[in-house]
Amino acid sequence: MIKVAKFGGSSVSNCDQLQKIKAIIKEDSDRKIIVTSALGKDKEHEAKVTDLLFLLYAHLEYGIDYSYLLKQISNRFLTIKDQLGLGFDIEAELNLLKKKLNKDIPKDYLVSRGEYYTARLLAEYLEYDFVDATELISLNYDGTVNYETTSKRLQSVLKEHERIVVPGYYAVTPDDKIRLFSRGGSDLSGSILSKAANADLYENWTDVSGIYSADPKIVPNPKRIERITYNELREMSYRGANVLHQESVIPLEKMEIPIRIKNTNDPEDSGTLISKSFDDQNGIITGIAGQKNFTSFNITKSSGKPITIVLKDVLNLFIRYKLNIEHIPTGIDSFSVITKTESIKAMYFDLINEIREIDGVIDLSLEDDISLLAIVGRSMSHIPGVAGKIFSTLGRNKINIKIIAQASTEISIIIGVSNKDYEAAVTVLYEEFY
Ligand code: ASP
Repeated sequence: MIKVAKFGGSSVSNCDQLQKIKAIIKEDSDRKIIVTSALGKDKEHEAKVTDLLFLLYAHLEYGIDYSYLLKQISNRFLTIKDQLGLGFDIEAELNLLKKKLNKDIPKDYLVSRGEYYTARLLAEYLEYDFVDATELISLNYDGTVNYETTSKRLQSVLKEHERIVVPGYYAVTPDDKIRLFSRGGSDLSGSILSKAANADLYENWTDVSGIYSADPKIVPNPKRIERITYNELREMSYRGANVLHQESVIPLEKMEIPIRIKNTNDPEDSGTLISKSFDDQNGIITGIAGQKNFTSFNITKSSGKPITIVLKDVLNLFIRYKLNIEHIPTGIDSFSVITKTESIKAMYFDLINEIREIDGVIDLSLEDDISLLAIVGRSMSHIPGVAGKIFSTLGRNKINIKIIAQASTEISIIIGVSNKDYEAAVTVLYEEFY
């Protein structure tokens, strides 16, 4: 039995946390592959080491004195070494880094040192073998993971080393360069290694007891989700419920490797189990997630032009600008394209001009300040009246619905409301369904 256990930044942020995770790891001998983030925030440290390393890079780039930052970063690792009485020569590593610090240092290499040093110290503390991510997670030139190589490498490493600690967040390119994943990417490292090891379980240890059925910043003490399917989770995280990196489930879906989200500070709590499907029926809905700040391009076309042609031209424009589209509600002679407001900032006016020039477009209006809410639930598809309940709840509370969408899989209903109504909409829907 192999379990991959990934620990997030807050789980490794100081000695107390490291002691907790040692107890967790030692308690189950199947936890053979440990993936770690870099030291995160805690009461004493308001910045993650990764943030400091990004900042250090910016200082190098602009030629600003960085000594105080380097000291801050170094101190965090030196304190851990001292307090845990470790022998790893972190001083030598830090001195080596210091020598390499100039504006030509590759950013990804520099930032990856956060995870690298953390994993080095953790490996010694656990008495596990350290194996660098560059020895394991291999990327293709286009940035996708080369699973064939990664699996081969991992299998041969596991023949030699029974228990390993691997730094998360980065991998190696075919030309032997370090490449970072996007922020929060240690989750991905854990998924990739779980797939490569054909693990029985991927445990993701963090500072919350799983995924909540609504944002705890809006709804006080929302119910924890006990079981959620991969698909539901993708809907939830796509809409802002971000306990896990959005792409983490992708490598695991085909092999049906379950993920369990666990809380390092409350290890007895069963957390949230994520899997392909569950036999049991949960409540009508699994959770409510949402995000603010979307823009809707409302386009009216001339009645003589087929909607498919105008839509194709508009979509091509969005493709050219590499913009993601959230929804495309359509009418007879009009349709809307909804996208994140933030993503269109840089080309806002160009986009408006170019849409107006498209043959067949007779009118364009824009609406900002839209929030999208997803009401997600695998059981929804065979229960009539869920949409009715959503609409009547919002109606009763005088919340105007701007957009309605339901994916054909029927696992979520998407509602668009004004930003100003967002919190109220989440609250009243939560109250209605729970
Ligand atoms: N340390 C990185 C970050 O803060 C990666 C991770 O923690 O997953 O984004």
